[in-house]
Amino acid sequence: MPRKKKDTETITEDKAAESANNVAESIDKLAGKKIEQKTTPEIKKLPAQPELNIALVGHVDHGKTTLTERLSGKWTDTHSEEMKKGITIRLGYADVIIYKCSNCGYYTTKEKCAKCNSLTTPLRKISLVDAPGHESLMATMLSGAAIVDGALLLVAANEKCPQPQTKEHLMALQITGIKKVIIIQNKIDLVSHEEALANYKEIKEFLSTTEFKDAPIIPISARANANVDRLVQTIYEYIQIPQRELNKEPLMLVARSFDINKPGSKVEQMKGGVLGGTIKQGVFSVGQEIEISPGYMVEEKNKKIWKPLKTTIKQIFSGGVPVEKIQPGGSMAFSTLLDPSVVKSDSLTGSLVSLPGKLPPLHYQISLDTFLLERIVGAKEDLEVKPLAKNEVLMLNVNSAATVGIVLDPSKKNTTVILKKPICATIGARLTISRRVGDRFRLIGYGILKL
Ligand code: GDP
Ligand code: ZN
Repeated sequence: MPRKKKDTETITEDKAAESANNVAESIDKLAGKKIEQKTTPEIKKLPAQPELNIALVGHVDHGKTTLTERLSGKWTDTHSEEMKKGITIRLGYADVIIYKCSNCGYYTTKEKCAKCNSLTTPLRKISLVDAPGHESLMATMLSGAAIVDGALLLVAANEKCPQPQTKEHLMALQITGIKKVIIIQNKIDLVSHEEALANYKEIKEFLSTTEFKDAPIIPISARANANVDRLVQTIYEYIQIPQRELNKEPLMLVARSFDINKPGSKVEQMKGGVLGGTIKQGVFSVGQEIEISPGYMVEEKNKKIWKPLKTTIKQIFSGGVPVEKIQPGGSMAFSTLLDPSVVKSDSLTGSLVSLPGKLPPLHYQISLDTFLLERIVGAKEDLEVKPLAKNEVLMLNVNSAATVGIVLDPSKKNTTVILKKPICATIGARLTISRRVGDRFRLIGYGILKL
């Protein structure tokens, strides 16, 4: 049995790439398929806005950040730089362009081919969503699922598969209805050929019990840059751009809201509040009047109520660049005429934005058809999911909103929940349900909004 190499051991890119490519070949043979080198498609001019949102998920330390860096050439948390400019959001989005070498067919995210040094041709701009930390990753996935078109699930080849969060993330993808998932068998440089194949079989076995049993599995080394070209090609070919609903009423999901003025700014120089998030459907343009719901909270007669806000879009930013119009794809931000004090410290996170009068209804109390899992995923011990109980506290996620609710009636068909903060959502919307287990909320199922 060959000795396992440590993460910290130095590896040459060439050697790792060679062995990873051998493993990739064997795995392709096992899977009985061959990725064809397609001829370069007609080149259209790339739109400024990314066309796809792809989430990176997987157990801690399996390589999400390293891969994001490898593909984008920058760490996702450098967004704090842009944050200073006050024009973009800090969700951990990294925009990446997929290129193909027109000479040798190599896929890359760079303008120059690493194989033959020719210039490459841009094919598609994508937006990678990488949330730092497990808790925020789950929250991003559950609330962001509405805007994610596909996901990359990283699995470290030098550990047994599945690890708890690998299971939990895959379950979350399944529950939120994400279909296009690519499994990345990472850290291939740390294992022998035989170990890589044994790990591949574990992954296959694990997937066989899920709806992703035919998902592509790509062995790579993010650190040694091995087989990443194959991964880029698979992303391009496997996760297609869905039909966007551009003619529907525009809807934006607010992930963050903030005040970009420096403390002590003069009133006449004050800039209006900024809303950051993603477009779910339709198109927004500069100058349009918009409405935001649930909006902001006020206390009236000792009761907390939420009031919608109306304002005008002053500017739109896509990837930090001003644009005239915006449609689904990537992260974006509006600057508005809202009073900065209303938007500060993410006070509008979870709100929906549309044109005045076009927003879905606001619910302080909801009724659901609920579907619970059999077992709690990702927990250390094997725990059964018990039925909901009267007065139980739940966390519910819908669109970009997270709210806490108390169960009034636990019946399966008509689960009634009183919400601490109301949600703005259409009848038929899918909410994920989490319950407190130990020290945190765990995903236990989902519900369909009836009322
Ligand atoms: P994350 O928690 O999923 O974001 O994982 P990171 O990207 O932070 O990676 C965790 C550790 O694994 C870091 O020390 C990385 O340098 C290392 N790592 C990531 N990918 C590879 C790889 O392909 N090969 C090796 N040897 N180490 C890797
Ligand atoms: Zn080339």
